[in-house]
Amino acid sequence: MDVSSPPVSLEEGLVLQIQRMSTEDGPGLRSTAFLKACPLSCAWCHNPEGISAKPEVEWTAGNCIAAGTKDGCGACVAACPSRALARDPSGALRVDRRACAAAQDKGDCRLCAAACPAGAVQVLGTRYSASRLADELAKDSSWFSGSDRGGVTLSGGEASAQPAFARETLRLLKGRGIHTALDTCGVASWENLCSLYPYVDLLLWDLKESDSALHARFTGLGNERILENLKRTADWMGSHSYPRAMWIRTPVVPRATDREDNLLAIGKAIARIAVPRLERWELCAFNNLCAEKYRRLDKEWEYATSPLMKAQDMDRLLEAGKRGLDTGAWTGAQAPSVAWTGSTGPGTGRKEA
Ligand code: SF4
Ligand code: SF4
Repeated sequence: MDVSSPPVSLEEGLVLQIQRMSTEDGPGLRSTAFLKACPLSCAWCHNPEGISAKPEVEWTAGNCIAAGTKDGCGACVAACPSRALARDPSGALRVDRRACAAAQDKGDCRLCAAACPAGAVQVLGTRYSASRLADELAKDSSWFSGSDRGGVTLSGGEASAQPAFARETLRLLKGRGIHTALDTCGVASWENLCSLYPYVDLLLWDLKESDSALHARFTGLGNERILENLKRTADWMGSHSYPRAMWIRTPVVPRATDREDNLLAIGKAIARIAVPRLERWELCAFNNLCAEKYRRLDKEWEYATSPLMKAQDMDRLLEAGKRGLDTGAWTGAQAPSVAWTGSTGPGTGRKEA
């Protein structure tokens, strides 16, 4: 045995996707691993295929050579041993997710995807060992070294929903000197969450909605656990050097979180909790670029035709957030910078405050 080889990690997890050259998941150029499973189900979710903890079959009509026809191909249907697939009279592929072996975690069946000659059927969710995932992400390290604090981000879904896998992956990346970020919705047991912190440089923390009843309506759960974990994280960061920094992010969603009272209250909560080394609060303008993802999963999405936020509304909400932040004493703790990001309509804009 070659004792100089790093031990192979046996921790395994389900990964939705690896995205390279991302500029939206922390500072610099980043490689982001999106892990499957999330305890929330946000109405505006941009990664609907990341919510389920199990693999999912998706069908892309634009690639299917039989879409819109009654006959022709059907190789995916014929290949399925579970009779989970059928084509409806319009030629669209229908998936019975209760019958699909992959979706029920009864083995790693991908026969439909293998049979499709056009790449129109995919089974989302691939099992990785932590070692393999870390190796895959570290392939990009030549980019990180030349960029401003670039590195790797674990996102999801909710990365902490697979705590042992996430922890081991982060540990291996830190061992290679790679900057790590953890993107979290804050819903996790405290033990699982803080077990990741020694291997995290930057914590990206979502605060979406200040009213717990509305939070439950929009995401499926109230916000109490998130605020409690944020407070505990503030205490932790006061007595530990890791995570080295935090950014808070708020999705600004039309007819949901885009209210002045919400931004004001979130600003006040940030001021009250005063996380040490909180560098930045980002208000992230909603977009509907993920509408096609919902179509591929055959899911309705109430935001599919929602307009983009207007720049003047983002400015107004930013000011409300700043008024909330201004209620903090911030002595001994540097007040974070505040900015809104994302595309707005009509036209696009990006503003740093
Ligand atoms: S993954 Fe397997 S069981 Fe599921 S639809 Fe495809 S062929 Fe059928
Ligand atoms: S195998 Fe692929 S191309 Fe053929 S019907 Fe199924 S999805 Fe369409």
